[in-house]
Amino acid sequence: MIRRLKRVLAADDPRPFRECRDCGTNVETTAVGCPVCGSGEIATYEV
Ligand SMILES: [Zn+2]
Repeated sequence: MIRRLKRVLAADDPRPFRECRDCGTNVETTAVGCPVCGSGEIATYEV
C-alpha cells in the first residue's frame, strides 16, 4: 500500500487522465478503447 501511494505521488507527468464514458474505468493513455467493456468512448480530463 505504501509502495502504491509513492507511485501515485511520483506520477507528476503531464499526461491527461482518461476514463471510459460507459463504465467509468480508468483507461491507460496508450489504450485505444476501454479494456473492460470494449467501448471506444473515452473521456479525457486534464489534471
Ligand atoms: Zn468501459
